[in-house]
Amino acid sequence: MNRTSGGSRTELAWRLLAGVGARRTQARVLVVEVLARASGHLSVAAIHQQIAATRPEINVSTVHRTVAFLLEQGVAHVLPWPGEAQYGLNDSPHVHAICEECGAHVELPADDLGSAVAAAQRSSDLDLGPAGLALFGRCAGCRSRRPSG
Ligand SMILES: [Zn+2]
Ligand SMILES: [Zn+2]
Repeated sequence: MNRTSGGSRTELAWRLLAGVGARRTQARVLVVEVLARASGHLSVAAIHQQIAATRPEINVSTVHRTVAFLLEQGVAHVLPWPGEAQYGLNDSPHVHAICEECGAHVELPADDLGSAVAAAQRSSDLDLGPAGLALFGRCAGCRSRRPSG
């Protein structure tokens, strides 16, 4: 995969945050780090769990506020799924393939869907965001638990 490493993803996020004059608080540094390392998208609870392993003083509501701040600043986005909100960084344009039942998901690089994305932009004059598309289905686990009739 042609993904940037955790380190440069963190730098990229901070370059954006520095541009809006965001202070480098401990919570922001930690949340950005966790999201940069994640291979998919994480809920606030999952982000907090990873941080609490080393920094138990950072509580869930701080993580909540920090994630909301990153969304506001356009550094992160929320997975377009009606279940528990899961967040990812905005650095690499991608399409979400999501299980509509359990929220299991993978990121597909937007380049792989280049012509579809280009067509969507042409036909709707829509400025697609960094995570502007989602494909929905049911994952193998959900299919085996509840076969569709
Ligand atoms: Zn599923
Ligand atoms: Zn995403």
